[in-house]
Amino acid sequence: MKILVINAGSSSVKFTLFEIDQETWLAKGQIERIRTPGASLKYSNHRGQKFEKSIIANSYEAAISEACLALCDQDHGVIGNLNEISGIGHRVAHGGAQVSGSMRITPAIKQIILNCYELAPLHNPPNFEGIEACEFLFHDIPMIAVFDTAFHQTMPPAAYTYAIPAAVAAEHKLRRYGFHGTSHHYVALAGAKALGKDVADVKLITAHLGNGCSITAVDKGRVADTSMGVTPLEGLVMGTRCGDLDPAVVLFLCRTGHSLDDVDQMLNKSSGLLGLAGIGSADMRDLIAAVDGGNANARLALDVFVHRLQKYIGAYAAVLNGFDALIFTGGIGENSSRIRALVCEKLGYLGISLEAAKNRTHDLVISSNAVGPKVLVIPTNEELMIARETARLLAS
Ligand code: AMP
Repeated sequence: MKILVINAGSSSVKFTLFEIDQETWLAKGQIERIRTPGASLKYSNHRGQKFEKSIIANSYEAAISEACLALCDQDHGVIGNLNEISGIGHRVAHGGAQVSGSMRITPAIKQIILNCYELAPLHNPPNFEGIEACEFLFHDIPMIAVFDTAFHQTMPPAAYTYAIPAAVAAEHKLRRYGFHGTSHHYVALAGAKALGKDVADVKLITAHLGNGCSITAVDKGRVADTSMGVTPLEGLVMGTRCGDLDPAVVLFLCRTGHSLDDVDQMLNKSSGLLGLAGIGSADMRDLIAAVDGGNANARLALDVFVHRLQKYIGAYAAVLNGFDALIFTGGIGENSSRIRALVCEKLGYLGISLEAAKNRTHDLVISSNAVGPKVLVIPTNEELMIARETARLLAS
């Protein structure tokens, strides 16, 4: 069964066509700079053919129809026509408190996505446009929305409730929602499999460390807690986001002449590793190079990043009352043996010790301890998870 996965962002659309029975991809690509004169399509297929070309894409329909042409092309295409596609899975950022799983797209589900614009103003609008473009282009092919917030809806009220007046929280839908849910769910399932167990029988801490970073405590397949909140700003230190902060910092900045928009921009775009290190980059590789070059601000940024992570792991060990594995994923989690080593250095009290050689080569299991939690490195695959969810819903 062929499943097309669409991830429509503010100026780009990523697509992957899967043969889901074998869990293999047939073709994938990305349309960038939609609605600009520099729009382009990157495409590759499982036979190793790839190309990049300029296109005209003044709308999401135009962009996705270029992807369709590539998929059906006689030379580099992988299908004869679009009717070979059994279903389309859309990545959707926010489903609010009403959505606790993947959903077949109906007018009611589209309304929920629209209702969550306020909670995800940068992501839900392009996700919605991607859905409408596909409705136009693919007619009767069933479509599924896979929400980044859905996995976290299994969280208990004690973990998702903010201690502000209940009526205010209810009026403005202010609560912990959590993000990267599809990634945390994927690596939790893969982690349980690597331990030779069912996810319903294990307790896991999943650390998604990319440009955005979040960490989740997964208790027998349900989320016990997660670090991102009503927006992705809360929690760990990230590339450009500050993560946890005394809310009074915001009040202080506003009272001392910064506009709300300034503060929003500052905390989301100019903070985190970028703001702390001041090396003009939010990239962990650049930060590590600056640390090795003796840059003291970069050193502090790295220390703050690692300290926050260690703190969360300790907190989640307590929330879970012990755990079976710590899983690293995301660009940093999958590729940086240095960060993994620094984080795990202080987890000896939990019984964790890393095997340096396995950590260096990014093995699946990088811990050496026979008892106590294992440490795993699992490349995330949100597209595959969306394709799986799409196939599951089509079959049900
Ligand atoms: P993502 O958002 O998951 O694509 O991850 C992006 C982040 O991964 C950036 O901060 C990169 O610097 C980081 N990253 C990728 N490869 C490495 C590496 N080998 N070492 C350290 N960080 C890396």
